[in-house]
Amino acid sequence: MTRTPLMAGNWKMNLDHLEANHLVQGLAMELADHNHDYSQCEVLVIPPFTDIRTVQTIVDADNLGIKYGAQDVSVHDNGAYTGEISTSMLTKLGCTYVVMGHSERREYHNESDELVGEKARKVLDAGMTPILCCGEALEIRKAGTHVEFVLGQIRAALKGWDAADVAKIVIAYEPIWAIGTGETATADDAQEVCGAIRKALAEDFGAETAEATRVLYGGSAKPGNIKELMAQEDIDGALIGGASLKADSFAEMCRFYA
Ligand code: PEP
Repeated sequence: MTRTPLMAGNWKMNLDHLEANHLVQGLAMELADHNHDYSQCEVLVIPPFTDIRTVQTIVDADNLGIKYGAQDVSVHDNGAYTGEISTSMLTKLGCTYVVMGHSERREYHNESDELVGEKARKVLDAGMTPILCCGEALEIRKAGTHVEFVLGQIRAALKGWDAADVAKIVIAYEPIWAIGTGETATADDAQEVCGAIRKALAEDFGAETAEATRVLYGGSAKPGNIKELMAQEDIDGALIGGASLKADSFAEMCRFYA
């Protein structure tokens, strides 16, 4: 079983639709200039909702290999949920991935593991791929209970899931203390947790599922550290914030294999 590496750029609340246009065009050009091999690394951009239609238009018009997705989704199908966006609205726009459980949403919107799991299920049922985020705060890392904490988050979100469904999702391990801080977990730190996640998946859902599920690292990943991170056995890609906002740095990370 081979897992296709994935570089996912989480733009967060950055870039309006005009800036999104510029970034995607620039990224496409950078990738084309270096003959990017999409079979070696899937390239995904995750813009704010208001940019998705613009990204879709560019990707479709130029038949680009770049994929795009959303940063969050509602668990409801439609109705009186002011401000929310449904899975069908995203699939209609050609989104193929949706992030849930990012630490910023857990912290600022009180999202629980159960809600995160419900969102992942909704996204999978709609035919898209969930990117389920997990990760510990600094105090937990300092207490040495980070592995246990992260596995607890994942197990709570995936409670009752079938192995075949788990194999289709992406898990992103993002230590909160490394997000947007410039403080990257060392490759060994990242591998420790990503390896523990795969081991737990094997225990809970079987070895085949654990082999198939992609596990990403996120937290100040950048061109300077991506090769070392990607050399780790259980790291299948990265969820990238800051460094995904510049076409050249993100494209360089996508070429980690070169
Ligand atoms: C993120 O927010 O998912 C992230 C990893 O951000 P950064 O790369 O900026 O640390």
